[in-house]
Amino acid sequence: MNRTEFLKLCGILGVGLPMQSALASCQQSTVAPSSFTGKVLIIGAGAGGLSAGYLLKQQGIAFEILEASSRFGGRMRINTTFADFPIPLGAEWLETSPSVFQEIVNDAKVSVNIKTVADDPDRKFVGSSWYSFFEEYIVPAVLPHIRYDHVVSSIDYSNLKIQVNSSKGTFVADKVIVSVPLKILQDKAISFSPSLPAEKLNAIANTNIWEGFKAFFEFSENFYGEGHEYAISPKTDGQKIYYDASLGQNTQKHILGLFVVGKPAQVYLSLSDAALKKYVLSELDALYANKASSKYLKHISQNWNAEPYIRGGYMSDYADWRTVKILGEPVADKLYFAGGAYTDGEDWVSVHTAARSAKVAVGNLLK
Ligand SMILES: Cc1cc2nc3c(=O)[nH]c(=O)nc-3n(C[C@H](O)[C@H](O)[C@H](O)COP(=O)(O)OP(=O)(O)OC[C@H]3O[C@@H](n4cnc5c(N)ncnc54)[C@H](O)[C@@H]3O)c2cc1C
Repeated sequence: MNRTEFLKLCGILGVGLPMQSALASCQQSTVAPSSFTGKVLIIGAGAGGLSAGYLLKQQGIAFEILEASSRFGGRMRINTTFADFPIPLGAEWLETSPSVFQEIVNDAKVSVNIKTVADDPDRKFVGSSWYSFFEEYIVPAVLPHIRYDHVVSSIDYSNLKIQVNSSKGTFVADKVIVSVPLKILQDKAISFSPSLPAEKLNAIANTNIWEGFKAFFEFSENFYGEGHEYAISPKTDGQKIYYDASLGQNTQKHILGLFVVGKPAQVYLSLSDAALKKYVLSELDALYANKASSKYLKHISQNWNAEPYIRGGYMSDYADWRTVKILGEPVADKLYFAGGAYTDGEDWVSVHTAARSAKVAVGNLLK
């Protein structure tokens, strides 16, 4: 069973069958109060790392987040100057119920006000984004704990205290939550001492990470309707969609998004900006009776493979759930994993799954 099949099963079971309660996977986990009083280091300030820090803060646990780049958010990055609404350069759709916002905030006293609109089969943020949600509700609690430009290169968990080496010095902790993209571990950009268990190393090495690329083109009018999804064969190779990025937004602008992951993304990764414009316009002219070139205004793009601390799109939707489960498992009661790739093997790669995996990681850490 892969991610798509599993989600379908959850959907089927969601039609009021009592059996659903048997599937822990379709439910949320909770963080129980604990007597742990040590220090935690979180590596990476993306959705997983920020959520983990936020939950630790709620529990009054000491922590620091070491982030390699000079900003938080990772693959939730947005552009706020291209249009009159936030342009999501990475995570764009809400791939579950809006009730997940309250679940991530994990505090009944806070009422979340984020508007979304249906965009079958997912939802789109209206005048907002995954990044904006984190910026407003999660980041304020963790901001003082984030150490930017700290590139972690090694984690030594052979002693009682764990030693983490970064480009800005050495840190010591009782527990570490690893929340870097899976590709960073595949590339062995962080070394572990002792080595991670063989099963974990195999899972890291044998997982397919799709390339990731997005672009946004503004046109003087909408000639593309809702857009066009390419049939990728085999479907395990990836996904490529032109879609109406203005959908549901309070805007007069006509912005077409290109979302492409996996093999179909490869062609875009090496194009210069001028070559990208030419390539995309000729693709659109072919799809829409030569209407694109004459209505073009401007564009932006985001190549996730070229980001030094991301290095790819995300783990394939068609990864084997057993392998994914291993990626999420803790090591030696010292190392915990949180993020889009480190889940319980029943759903993965979305922002909400990264946040849920953080809840599981923090829950395990505090046990
Ligand atoms: C093109 C694209 C489209 C997507 N669309 C959606 C969508 O519509 N909906 C959705 O829910 N999800 C979507 N996703 C997936 C979603 O963005 C990710 O799964 C999620 O944001 C991952 O969060 P994370 O915390 O696991 O990792 P990241 O966000 O990648 O954060 C990891 C952090 O670790 C840092 N780091 C890396 N190496 C080091 C190091 N050595 N030391 C210290 N820090 C380090 C990085 O700088 C980064 O900030 C999309 C992703 C892409 C690429």
